[in-house]
Amino acid sequence: MKQRLLFLGPPGAGKGTQAALLCDRHGLRHLSTGDLLRAEVSAGSELGKEAESVMNRGELVSDSLVLAIVKAQLGALNGQGWLLDGFPRNVAQAEALDPLLQELNQPIEAVVLLELDDAVLIERLLSRGRDDDNEAVIRNRLVVYADKTEPLIEHYRQRGLLQSVEANGNIEAITERIEGVLA
Ligand code: AMP
Repeated sequence: MKQRLLFLGPPGAGKGTQAALLCDRHGLRHLSTGDLLRAEVSAGSELGKEAESVMNRGELVSDSLVLAIVKAQLGALNGQGWLLDGFPRNVAQAEALDPLLQELNQPIEAVVLLELDDAVLIERLLSRGRDDDNEAVIRNRLVVYADKTEPLIEHYRQRGLLQSVEANGNIEAITERIEGVLA
């Protein structure tokens, strides 16, 4: 299976769940910028304090802050495969990622787009109960996704890396679909 992966898709599409399963099964490092940021918030670090209110509004944390986190994580991997989940989130982040991976000599092998209708996304997010999962914030996160993150679909399609996967159905079936496009 491909070893250097990126997951794209709206909040609630199941990126985190599928990424964790796939990384577990295939020995990849799961790099979720959302998880890494939440860990900083819980730890009460300076970085966490800076990120917390932005996250609770459903906006994007600054590119420089997120890039610093990703850079440190990728630099410490020593050849292990990885799956980026929730990063890049906009074109500027994607454009910053390219030279970073070039420097590490680790190009992306595939981008998986998890696709799901808004109605199902909202229902899923509302049942999750995270701090940033109330209805107003969810709607804002979907708007931010459409404005900032969706352009990345074209960015990676043009590079011949994009694989779309229907993200409706049970967890196991979706994992199999993803493994199918990454074989
Ligand atoms: P997630 O767990 O991926 O849904 O991320 C939760 C929140 O963390 C997002 O709504 C953003 O506020 C922030 N976040 C996560 N990843 C990024 C990123 N790559 N760039 C900017 N903000 C991010």
